[in-house]
Amino acid sequence: SSTALIIGAGHAGGELAVSLRNEGWSGRILLIGEEAHLPYHRPPLSKAYLAGSVEKSSLSIRPQAAYDKANVEILSGVRVEAIDRANKRVQLADGRSLAYAKLVIATGGRPRPLAVPQAKAAEACSNFHYLRTLDDVELIRSQLAPGKRLVIVGGGYIGLEVAASAVQQGLQVQVLEAMPRVLQRVTAAELSAYYERKHREAGVQIRTNVQVSDLELDASGQAVSAVLCSDGTRIPADLVVVGIGLLANTELAAAAGLAVDNGILVNEYAQTSDPDIYAAGDCTNHPNALLGRRLRLESVPNALEQSRCAAAAINGKLKAYASVPWFWSDQYELKLKMVGLSQDYQQLVLRGTPDSDSFSAFYLKDGKVIAADTVNRPQDFMAAKRLIAEGIVLSAAQLADDSKPLKELLP
Ligand code: FAD
Repeated sequence: SSTALIIGAGHAGGELAVSLRNEGWSGRILLIGEEAHLPYHRPPLSKAYLAGSVEKSSLSIRPQAAYDKANVEILSGVRVEAIDRANKRVQLADGRSLAYAKLVIATGGRPRPLAVPQAKAAEACSNFHYLRTLDDVELIRSQLAPGKRLVIVGGGYIGLEVAASAVQQGLQVQVLEAMPRVLQRVTAAELSAYYERKHREAGVQIRTNVQVSDLELDASGQAVSAVLCSDGTRIPADLVVVGIGLLANTELAAAAGLAVDNGILVNEYAQTSDPDIYAAGDCTNHPNALLGRRLRLESVPNALEQSRCAAAAINGKLKAYASVPWFWSDQYELKLKMVGLSQDYQQLVLRGTPDSDSFSAFYLKDGKVIAADTVNRPQDFMAAKRLIAEGIVLSAAQLADDSKPLKELLP
């Protein structure tokens, strides 16, 4: 068989299918996805699409015609149940079994479930939601109505984006965060404080240091009526959205005996421990030469770039994956763009002032910028990307001096 088979039709899978063809794969390309949609943009689900400011049709990453042109066959709405490495076949939920020459696992992840006694019962309720798919957001959107009490569990990007969108649509919004501040895992305290302030000013109630202990269902058992906290508070809710992180979909790979450790282990060419099987996107744990370590990322740029490396490698062109991670988040009129990884930073340098809603924060370690968060500052973002990728050294004073564009200081 000369079939390249891709499991998962998300950001990574869709990009891989088309790239494989562009890189010269001449055999059959089969893209198999569990969702009943062509690969679509997930970021707008908690941003513009939730706010109702973009059409559903604009969510598709490519039109059907683009896959036709690349001669990519798509099987939508079908789950792959198992990988038989010995016979190089995959087993589909509908009973079919398909052969592959090369296999790519691009299964992404699923929302981390809330670990409380009534979580399972709540999942069957119409007003309790996780947010990962287009179908999830269609349901949420249909329930957003002015005056409703929305409780969001989790003050990460998704929770805060949903909060911004919902409060602007007139809902009464409360965000519950277990950590001492929102966005704690990803930003400095200064940024968290800034975002907490912006949300409070918009009318969102934010409670930090609060553990959700259970969910209360109404008498019918069909709807969640309140979120219960371990400090004894009961927060009445008409609608609950949970955004507390992601679990990588690694079970298929693990069951097939591939190496898995916080993601499917791949090398810099996206190859797994089986030379005929590759993996890309949120489900992988990959080395990044630029950062000098392994990591698992949940971001679109990672899914796209890693897919292109995989497609090249499958066609015999080895091109190591070494991109600086970056991410973005839209809340209110604030365009946050982040680049690099800020863990273990030693110094934070602000450029511009948060009060102006246009500023950047640079994270320094050993005199070098390792990450930056930029708010409504696309030029700073572009400069930061280069500072990190090229290891360019600027002093804290130069970074803080807002009178001079950073671009002018770059080689
Ligand atoms: P996915 O897009 O999750 O695709 C995996 C696909 O595989 C899914 O469709 C799944 O159904 C399918 N699948 C899984 N198992 C099987 C199986 N056994 N058989 C068949 N199909 C299967 N990233 C950013 O960079 N910026 C943002 O602003 C941003 N915002 C986000 C907002 C939301 C609400 C969400 C949910 C995510 C956001 N992300 C953002 C993250 C980004 O969407 C992910 O990093 C990206 O989707 C990863 O792509 P992927 O292809 O690896 O996984």
